[in-house]
Amino acid sequence: MSLVETGRGCNHNCEFCSISRFYGSRYHARSHELIEADIKASPYKYFFLVDDNLVANSRNAIELFRRIEPLKIKWAGQGTLSMAKDPELLRAMKKRLRDYSDRVREP
Ligand code: SF4
Repeated sequence: MSLVETGRGCNHNCEFCSISRFYGSRYHARSHELIEADIKASPYKYFFLVDDNLVANSRNAIELFRRIEPLKIKWAGQGTLSMAKDPELLRAMKKRLRDYSDRVREP
């Protein structure tokens, strides 16, 4: 598994979290070109997309997921459950979600 940073910060302001205080309640997306280049340069097919909140900016996340889809990698990341309220975002994640849910069901 390889680690690729996709962004920092979070636009939420949870009182118990240091991220919003550290980055000023803003999300800072990394260039998709650089993310794609990092993935292509890696010999691995499994990635952890390092991000405080991968879906903090849903438009950015949708564009990123669509861009990396042709690379046929498997990835994981962390983000807020607000993603469940965004059908377009879920569709952009759909194939990888299906792969993940298949693995979860394995004994
Ligand atoms: S959503 Fe997560 S990363 Fe964002 S402020 Fe809340 S706990 Fe921190």
